[in-house]
Amino acid sequence: MTVNSFAAQPRTTDVRTALPLADRAAGLVGSVIDSSTSLLASQTHDIVRFAMGSPADEAVPVEEFRDIAAKVLDHSSMTYGATEGEPGLLEALVGYLAGTSEPADPDRITITAGGMQGLDLACKIFINPGDLVIVESPTYTNGSATALSYGADLLEAPVDEDGLIVEALPELVAATGRIPKAIYTIPNFQNPSGVTLSLPRRQRLLELAHEWNAVIIDDDPYGLLRFEGEDLPSLQTLSPNDPLLFSVRTFSKILAPGLRVGWVDTDPAVRQLVINAKQAMDTCTNVPAQHIVAEFIRRGGLDQHLAGLRTEYKHRKDAMQESLHRHMGNRITTTDPEGGFFLWLTLQGEDAHISTQKLFETALAEGVAFIPGPALSASGKFDDALRLCFASTTPERAEEGIIRLRRAMDRELAALDDGGLGGGMRGGGTR
Ligand code: PMP
Repeated sequence: MTVNSFAAQPRTTDVRTALPLADRAAGLVGSVIDSSTSLLASQTHDIVRFAMGSPADEAVPVEEFRDIAAKVLDHSSMTYGATEGEPGLLEALVGYLAGTSEPADPDRITITAGGMQGLDLACKIFINPGDLVIVESPTYTNGSATALSYGADLLEAPVDEDGLIVEALPELVAATGRIPKAIYTIPNFQNPSGVTLSLPRRQRLLELAHEWNAVIIDDDPYGLLRFEGEDLPSLQTLSPNDPLLFSVRTFSKILAPGLRVGWVDTDPAVRQLVINAKQAMDTCTNVPAQHIVAEFIRRGGLDQHLAGLRTEYKHRKDAMQESLHRHMGNRITTTDPEGGFFLWLTLQGEDAHISTQKLFETALAEGVAFIPGPALSASGKFDDALRLCFASTTPERAEEGIIRLRRAMDRELAALDDGGLGGGMRGGGTR
């Protein structure tokens, strides 16, 4: 089984060819990341789960949600809500953000069904079939898949320890002979690499966006989860009231992904388009979930909750790096994120010849799951790399998972040696 075999697939190609499908159906590529949820749910053996970017179970305030739900669930939460969001949530959110480094203006905010709906709205409003969209490489491929679903042509741009290499963009763009319509970036603790876009690059990115008249889809689910270093000014702070900024935010990583509540921050004129688009999509975001989030914020516990998450996630990140160091030594390198959920691991030396897509199958059999590099690249690069989520697993469990992963690497390496692949063939592939 290859990793792609658990990506969303039509049942048979025959049925597809017989149906009067829209052209855009060919661009609906699905998500290996999301498909891993059902793949893992169907496994009966014990698996250490480093695959999904989910908050730790222990980090979700279920008891408090239950208490809040008992209070807020009434007729007013069982009817249709305003498309822009429940007034109570908008007020609580704007009030909360006023005390952060990224205050929000109520005329710019629309509540969405999580960050994914924000990405969909951005692409729906700005992307025509055939438009050029810059995406990071590696990237959160659900985001690039959203652009593809609107017919975008993707231009992949590399990432280093300071985030998207913005200096490389003019040359990459010039080589296409086209002007990009949108730039999709995850500036803080990027999914999947964990790196953060530096301040000079933020500034240059804004300049380039204006030069090209390209919208920046600023996707930042993890910005409030910095556990080391200093916050950098957000793109919104650097360029206030900028109509070319479409900022996508979510409660998924800071409260709970099952709530499916997020928001977008856009120019008020764009916000009207967002509302129009959302009205033709889902009318309003789940009302009970909005009331639960609003009451959680009103009770004043969000700051303390976030402080607890930061402490715990730093602890888990450090512990995972120590486990990796102990069990894999110089067989791997990893990024060193200052927040968020993810470590990006790159195989070194002989191990770099292992395909992480193949490793996934062996690792699953050993009882550990991760996302292979190619699933996080629009063109399937990074077969020598993988993403580990350090947030959802306790250090003890993570240690067990890393031991299993090492075992899987040993098996794959032995299989390479047994295969008698001479040095000539090894490492010859695209990585
Ligand atoms: N963008 C990024 C970078 C993410 O990591 C995620 C969640 N994995 C999302 C968007 C989607 O967020 P949500 O679950 O709220 O739809």
